[in-house]
Amino acid sequence: MATLLFHSTNGQSPAVNLREAFLRGLAPDRGLYFPEKFPQVTHDEIAAFAKLPYHEIAFRILSKYTDGIIPAADLAAMCREAYNFDIPLEKIYDRVHLMRLDQGPTASFKDFAAQMMSRLIGRFLKEDGQQLTILTATSGDTGSAVAHAFHNIPGVRVIVLFPFAEVSVSQRKLMTALTGNIRTVAIDGKFDDCQAMVKQAFADPALKHLPLSSANSINIGRLLPQSVYYFYAASRLAKPGEPMVFSIPSGNFGDMMGSVVAREMGLPVKKIIASVNDNDAFPRFLQTGVYEKIVPSRNSLSNAMNVGHPSNLARLVAVYGGQMDETGKIHKQPDLAAMRRDLFSTSVSDERTREAFLDYWKKYNSLLEPHGAVAWQGFLDWLKTESLDGFPAAIIETANPAKFPEEIEKAFGWSPDVPPAMAAMIRLPESFDSMKADYGAFRDYLLKKHSSE
Ligand SMILES: *Cc1c(COP(=O)(O)O)cnc(C)c1O
Repeated sequence: MATLLFHSTNGQSPAVNLREAFLRGLAPDRGLYFPEKFPQVTHDEIAAFAKLPYHEIAFRILSKYTDGIIPAADLAAMCREAYNFDIPLEKIYDRVHLMRLDQGPTASFKDFAAQMMSRLIGRFLKEDGQQLTILTATSGDTGSAVAHAFHNIPGVRVIVLFPFAEVSVSQRKLMTALTGNIRTVAIDGKFDDCQAMVKQAFADPALKHLPLSSANSINIGRLLPQSVYYFYAASRLAKPGEPMVFSIPSGNFGDMMGSVVAREMGLPVKKIIASVNDNDAFPRFLQTGVYEKIVPSRNSLSNAMNVGHPSNLARLVAVYGGQMDETGKIHKQPDLAAMRRDLFSTSVSDERTREAFLDYWKKYNSLLEPHGAVAWQGFLDWLKTESLDGFPAAIIETANPAKFPEEIEKAFGWSPDVPPAMAAMIRLPESFDSMKADYGAFRDYLLKKHSSE
């Protein structure tokens, strides 16, 4: 089989293999890597997943991409190590289920991608003795998932930038308890500032000699593992060949693109619901065909989704035959009619988010945190436009309620239970550096850190 190639959504850089795409993160033309074509999974293969554990499904999906790059036995071992936790599918009513992706080491769905990416990148670096610095800007969850996944991986150094005032205490402690090859930097600014500093570092000629990469969802290494849980849900909830509905709480649209990748690989899908908070650039685009990013991004309860310009829209637009560059400018309009047929998108305000988790608790005696509540309300919004017709649906819960205790305490007067792994981390001493939101200072920091090793 010929090696699968990844091309850039900006169309100006040469296509590369999986290894290059993972190590670079962003293509040289600032576009995002995406597979030239999608390996296919048959309905029979999906049906056979029904009896397999999650790590085995992950192996069967991901091996279609790593064929010729990573020996099958090695990939199988990596999947076994990465996915050693539960993925609960809780029945809500009839064939509608809540898929909780919050049982990983940092209690958010970002563990699914980070745990796999770190193993693959660690292997690539070891193969040719390379070093890599991974820069990550985080509004909370990416930083901890990435820091945990890459902790003690030889050849990798991770620098996480986070907005000190915008992350919850438990989110912060999950990042700052790690030392060694992990460095966390508290920025006196907003998430947008952190992201801008990271982007500037990638573009800075003075840092050309530093091998830098990104673990944000611009990296295709995030997306491929995030397609697996949609196959998993279908193998447990759908009959062979039966299409499903997914409702996904969306910020940078990396999770949602995982479902699109699964569909392009052959997973039958009835509707993908991209539920967003007040950052409603995408639902507006779907309605009007005009894309206007939101600057600065709006603060909402579901803070991991406070994204004014979702970077993965460039990939989504490409799937529908269009082209969008990294600034959000559309050079070629995608097939909007097809997008509206396949996708639904809705904006859920903070007030509706609160109502949604209160209501969910009353009706189903089960706890959602704000991101999952956005997904649940998005599903209810969609039901007003179209019938489920008896098909199965999965609502994606992306974090453990203990990561966002503040709103739950306000609403209910008690705190959610903290998972044991998270409780142990929170007790460890914190260690982090602090910096103003100033790129010059960050560049000096990177240069100094580099020469001191
Ligand atoms: C990152 C995150 C999201 C948004 O995921 P995207 O891939 O950026 O759309 C949703 N919920 C939680 C808890 C997250 O951490």
